[in-house]
Amino acid sequence: MIGKLIASGFGDFLNLFYPDPCLLCQNSLQNGEELICTVCRLQLPETGQHRGDALMAGQTKFAGKVPVEFVDAYLYFTKRGKTQRLIHALKYRGHKEVGHLLGRWYGYQLKTDSQLNEHIDLIVGVPLHPAKLRQRGYNQSDWIAQGLSEALEIPWSDRALTRSQYTISQTGKDRMERWENVSNVFQVGEPDLVANKRILLVDDV
Ligand SMILES: [Zn+2]
Repeated sequence: MIGKLIASGFGDFLNLFYPDPCLLCQNSLQNGEELICTVCRLQLPETGQHRGDALMAGQTKFAGKVPVEFVDAYLYFTKRGKTQRLIHALKYRGHKEVGHLLGRWYGYQLKTDSQLNEHIDLIVGVPLHPAKLRQRGYNQSDWIAQGLSEALEIPWSDRALTRSQYTISQTGKDRMERWENVSNVFQVGEPDLVANKRILLVDDV
């Protein structure tokens, strides 16, 4: 405990001289800022969909297979934009804590602006292919799920869904074949966790 206190005190001390840079603009982070500076945060291309009536149902590949109540996205994606750079840091530069931060920010918005949290029982990240999970060491969607869980005060699980080794290309397949393909790839991990639950499924792109 004392060792930890000293270590964290020493970290603060070092930060006086070498403050962490913002992941996006490289400017030094100020007190209370975490990973992304306030200027960059305010420039994030939020969709704001959850504030309107754009919580779309039934327009996904799940349409007609699993009852989907809504679909929403936190940020717009533009090539070489802030979202792409954050996703890149999250997936390829080991910054899993970016997922947790974005999940929290999004979760607080959802809680403030919608009644969504009253309609969800469990938060689940889409599992990574096992080979990719071994290579990366973490599932970025699980980190987003944990951030959402903290903000929305709803449990999350990384055991509800599993993903098999089996993957075949989705290109050149029609809608039905793609669905059959996906249903072979994902399985329910622990049926008791998901039975009769309303699930918020989290994917990173
Ligand atoms: Zn910045």
